Amino acid sequence: MNNPFIRTEALTKTYRTGLSENTIINHLNLSVNTGEFAVIMGNSGSGKSTLLYLLSGLDTPGSGKIWIDDIPVHGKSEKALAIMRRKMIGFVFQDNNLVHTLTIRENILVAGYLLPGNRKLVNEYAATLMMELGIGHLANRFPTQVSGGELQRAAIARAMINRPLVLMADEPTGNLNSDASGKVLECFSALNRSGQTIVMVTHDLKSACHGNRVLFLKDGKLSDEDSYTVSHAHPDMETQLFNWLKQRGW
Ligand code: ADP
Ligand code: MG
Repeated sequence: MNNPFIRTEALTKTYRTGLSENTIINHLNLSVNTGEFAVIMGNSGSGKSTLLYLLSGLDTPGSGKIWIDDIPVHGKSEKALAIMRRKMIGFVFQDNNLVHTLTIRENILVAGYLLPGNRKLVNEYAATLMMELGIGHLANRFPTQVSGGELQRAAIARAMINRPLVLMADEPTGNLNSDASGKVLECFSALNRSGQTIVMVTHDLKSACHGNRVLFLKDGKLSDEDSYTVSHAHPDMETQLFNWLKQRGW
């Protein structure tokens, strides 16, 4: 049994607005193993994005601990967090967040050049990624000149360029039609098959079925013991997952 690759201990995040306090993540314990494709589901407002931002170091917890590959993510300075994110984590947002004045290729390269290293190798890997993700022919287009699904695949290439230990995605197909979603999700599946550890947030059953294991976030907690193992061979996995979610208050 591998050591869990991502691990949290009593992770807690409370938002204060005016006089009210709202504990969104409440003593949450999570483990994700190397090579897993973990999916986090939960009702709207349940804290899925908050949790993913904490795991990736984009946000900091009120209390509790997070390790990725035994390296603590908690208690780091902003600067240390930024360096850690660049080296260890690739992040795909719902709205791709590409720079509109740069081409698809340049968007990917800019992320790659943030780390010291051989730029020729970065250029080659960017070309490989674009080809594998089916956007090789769009390298010189600007973000406004390609479709939503293609943009999201470019965002995946950008997230992957520094060979992150873990790829995280927050509702990556939330703004896409089902055709485009399917292609984007197939990219995540292919990356996972080649060993990439992935944590994806989604509210979509079809998307969730691309993962290995589904965790349900509710009342600021989720349970590793009570997670749902996706059986890809099962002909009716969506219905099975739907029933599992319903029983937990989805
Ligand atoms: P989800 O992604 O599951 O829909 P979020 O993590 O975005 O949920 O938000 C969880 C809850 O935290 C929501 O009630 C939201 O309004 C609240 N929230 C999120 N960010 C902030 C913030 N910066 N300040 C105050 N409340 C916030
Ligand atoms: Mg969200």
